Amino acid sequence: MTQNILLKPFETPYNSAPFSKINTADFFSAFKQTIEDSKAEIDTIVNNTEKPTFKNTIEALEFAGEQLDRISSIFFNLNSAETNDAIQKIAQEVSPLLSEFSNDITLNEALFKRIKSVYNSKDHLSLTIEQQTLLDKKYKSFSRNGANLPEDKKAKLREIDKELSKLKLKFGENILAETNKFEMLITDENELSGLPEGAMEAAKQLAESKKKEGWLFTLDYPSYIPFVTYADNRILRKKITLAAGSKGFNNDALDNQDIVLKITKLRFERANLLGYKTHAHFVLEERMAKTPEKVLGFSNELLEKAKPAAEKEFQNLQNFAKDLDGIEQLEKWDGHYYSEKLKQKLFSLDDELLKPYFKLENVIDGAFTVANKLFDLNFEEINNIDKYHEDVLTYKVTDNNGGLAAIFYADFFPRTGKRNGAWMTSYKPQSIKNGLDDRPHISIVCNFTKPTKSKPSLLTFNEVTTLFHEFGHALHGMLANTTYPSLSGTSVFWDFVELPSQVMENWCYEKDALSLFAKHYETGEVIPMDLVKKIKESSTFLQGMQTLRQISFGLLDMGWHGQDPSKISNVKAYEVEAFSNTTLYPEVAENCMSTSFSHIFQGGYSSGYYSYKWAEVLDADAFEYFKEVGIFNKEVAIKFKDHVLSQGGTEDPMVLYKRFRGKEPQPEALLRRAGLLE
Ligand SMILES: [Zn+2]
Repeated sequence: MTQNILLKPFETPYNSAPFSKINTADFFSAFKQTIEDSKAEIDTIVNNTEKPTFKNTIEALEFAGEQLDRISSIFFNLNSAETNDAIQKIAQEVSPLLSEFSNDITLNEALFKRIKSVYNSKDHLSLTIEQQTLLDKKYKSFSRNGANLPEDKKAKLREIDKELSKLKLKFGENILAETNKFEMLITDENELSGLPEGAMEAAKQLAESKKKEGWLFTLDYPSYIPFVTYADNRILRKKITLAAGSKGFNNDALDNQDIVLKITKLRFERANLLGYKTHAHFVLEERMAKTPEKVLGFSNELLEKAKPAAEKEFQNLQNFAKDLDGIEQLEKWDGHYYSEKLKQKLFSLDDELLKPYFKLENVIDGAFTVANKLFDLNFEEINNIDKYHEDVLTYKVTDNNGGLAAIFYADFFPRTGKRNGAWMTSYKPQSIKNGLDDRPHISIVCNFTKPTKSKPSLLTFNEVTTLFHEFGHALHGMLANTTYPSLSGTSVFWDFVELPSQVMENWCYEKDALSLFAKHYETGEVIPMDLVKKIKESSTFLQGMQTLRQISFGLLDMGWHGQDPSKISNVKAYEVEAFSNTTLYPEVAENCMSTSFSHIFQGGYSSGYYSYKWAEVLDADAFEYFKEVGIFNKEVAIKFKDHVLSQGGTEDPMVLYKRFRGKEPQPEALLRRAGLLE
């Protein structure tokens, strides 16, 4: 019998992860063992002499490798929230094994043959909708990787994939090198005028770390953003802005223009090979938006409505800069600076003013109360399950009948070994197997202000909305009610996954919700209404310009990926054309967006940049439904739970959404919320 706890049944309360009993070293052998086990399970499916059926092939494949998945979630969650050298070393060793294993599956022709046989007979199988979705998903995970192609085309596809991953890597390396190459050393303290103390301190430390005298600024965001936002020196703002805007566009060894052209052509070719008109058609097949036409229609509609407001805002900003400093023409390097100045003038909303009303414990209670009022969930803190760090809070979540809904972990404070940002994840997905509903173990991880000896943890308003955001993702996980784990909770199309999270943020701006938890940590006084009003007003500040900017990036992305790119030979000229309807600032010849657009050329956002705005349209439209009848209206909440939150990815998101809302999402609600509609 093995001593490796990861390979045995956990025998813990709620079958929770036995963190305290895991030896880090055990992960590696557990991975190796469970990968072998999973391979054996796949072999069993392939070698089955019976005719392929949904049950013996699709469902069997779905539940194959369960133990491997469980260990993977525990391991990779720890690698994000509580890592160390040993974990990182194992991650490096194990990642190639995992991708090799998943490649082996996708390339397994005998397995695909069985899946295809089930797929081809799908109309006669009387499957449930969820089963149809699962079948479709499994089939496409093969067909979209070329499983249906003849050998020569398969080989061609592999060649393209290999070339693409090299180019994407090179694209990213060039951007990183460009970012690291630039340094702006300031030795005259006068040139720091306007910068807050924290930014100066950081710049001084950076200089010291490189054995230099003075203050050092780089193109890293924590250094760059404060500089362009606060530095009074316009010439230096211009210098650093131009440097940031010309990454990959300097006609040298780090230039990305050629790579952009090659990537877009290869993606187009790949899509054609698989039978799709363009790369965007290929990508959007597995998105709520479905087609490039839909994305373009939605983008142009928003654009048309936001543009007049954006132009007006720009003019106001221009006038403000002229009055203040005699600026005749507002340039790109003025945008952050004068926006911040104007915002201060209009709202003077100071974080320190708001923080006393947002004690962490109160905000957590607030989120729980909102979840209770809407979805009948009850949260009880428990201490009988293992934690991976003493800061982690653990809860048992039940429904109104006392039935277990989920186990919930919440991990709020920064520490060494935790990565930046905030996220939701799960240690165990929800599923129904052999008639048993196996409830999920969900976690949110944040990096909020820590309590001190004299003060509790007081959150900035931004941290409050972040908590509600991640909690919204968590609700999507906790309320899951599906049969198959790969369709459960947040396993939905990419442009749909931010609806549950973003919609929850809306409650943070509502008086009726705030009065439940936004109470002064010393006096207990509920946050004054004029502060709430200011928060609301400042949230729509320059929304027209912001909308125009986001849409312009989305349209550029669709421009590169939604058509045959072979006729494009000049990256900059093409970009200028793509931006022609969305620019506010004068064109800067030295700069190019595409050559450093990592989201779409290095990361996974190609043909997906639109989803930022798309998700906002969804959440505003959904929340307006609540607003129409009351933000705690049970009927609407139950509809949202039944048709969206509990359904995961079991059905097409547009169908789910329409069932909840009664119609397709419309952009008007977002425009109204952003103050862009009269
Ligand atoms: Zn999110």
